[in-house]
Amino acid sequence: MPSFQTTPGTRDILPPHAGRWREFTRIFAQEVEASGYQCIIPPMFEDIGVFQRLGDATDVVTKEMYDFVDKGDRHIALRPEHTASVCRAFAQHRPLAPWKVWYSGPNFRYEKAQAGRYRQFDQVGIEALGVDDPQLDIEVIALGWHFYKALGLKKVELIINSLGDAGDRERYVDALEKYFSSNISSLSQEAQATLQRNPLRVLDSKREQDAAVISGAPVISDFLSSGAAEHFNSVLSGLRELNIPFTVNDKLVRGLDYYRRTTFEYISSALDSAQNAVGGGGRYDGLVEDLGGPATPGIGFALGVDRTLLACDAEECFLPVAPRMDAFIIDTVNGTHATRIAHILRAAGFNVDRAYEGRSMKSQMKAADKSGATCAVIIGEDEAAQSTCTVRNLSTSEQVNIPQSTLFTYMSELVGAREPRRPQQ
Ligand code: AMP
Repeated sequence: MPSFQTTPGTRDILPPHAGRWREFTRIFAQEVEASGYQCIIPPMFEDIGVFQRLGDATDVVTKEMYDFVDKGDRHIALRPEHTASVCRAFAQHRPLAPWKVWYSGPNFRYEKAQAGRYRQFDQVGIEALGVDDPQLDIEVIALGWHFYKALGLKKVELIINSLGDAGDRERYVDALEKYFSSNISSLSQEAQATLQRNPLRVLDSKREQDAAVISGAPVISDFLSSGAAEHFNSVLSGLRELNIPFTVNDKLVRGLDYYRRTTFEYISSALDSAQNAVGGGGRYDGLVEDLGGPATPGIGFALGVDRTLLACDAEECFLPVAPRMDAFIIDTVNGTHATRIAHILRAAGFNVDRAYEGRSMKSQMKAADKSGATCAVIIGEDEAAQSTCTVRNLSTSEQVNIPQSTLFTYMSELVGAREPRRPQQ
């Protein structure tokens, strides 16, 4: 056993999986930049107050924060999510609205670590600030939906609800509190404890014992103001227009307290039901103001990278691929020919690997096969003496001997023209 291993809830993302993560972000960026969202990189830690605005009744804030006092006596927390940081950035820099940004990066929550639930996990997401038009809600929800499609996922479902405006939500929470309190003896111990902290979250309980009480609970749709109801209807009809299937679930309240009006979640039916939410989001029309900025509506979503990739594994789509390798250089003379040729080919835009430490021809050939390269470029004593090289096509095993000076042209024909990386010397 080595002295150290990753701590619970953290993982090494090894090759080729790490390459898949980068590709994931690249496709996401491409999708959202095409709709006017630009990249933002907020810090990974902030004054804890930024995240405390997420709500006292939120587990993320009360139980799961990674916080510490730094050497300057500041109370700091590692970010548990990005939305609060983006809203803090908006309040701090006051960019012109609408402000449409996207992000990708790790978050930290001290959760009970298990498959699909980690203490360090990645999210990609978007936030759009300064507009309360329901057409924006449709754009945001559709972007998440189409991104899942771009990955090849077929078993993602969209669940949607409206939590109404602040006043609607307050009246609803009051009604829920009364209802659950009058049925308290039928609730599980856990739900009773949740009721003390946040009656809304009792709706999240997946315990069988709570199901009957929850099914008879008041529903938010009866508490929506006419403005919130109209907004919600516009969002639903926009989604229908775009042929995006959805299910309205009036029990969808989501984990964070800041949501207003539209809330939604993407669920993968390919994953185990305990960890099947692959992404979610909603409107948070009071958050910027809570952080000291001007009253600003906002909407966004965060998609869990770890969990979405588990869904890809389950659906066998968007599988990891090793980076392209064009040539593997085998030098059985002294290694310096490989250094020179690799240098020239890499500068010309080819992807090139090689062996080291003067290994035998057989061992270098094995390494070439393992590399996944299209061809091996072999320099033995004869080739070195005549300034030639033997190029072996690793899938057909065909070999040709050519002058080294024509290798560039030969490679371009074999694997296609590449964009030079550096000017040739
Ligand atoms: P949230 O920020 O809680 O709304 O979560 C948005 C998405 O992030 C979820 O749907 C999950 O896919 C993912 N997520 C949240 N917490 C975790 C975690 N502890 N481990 C892995 N993924 C997570």
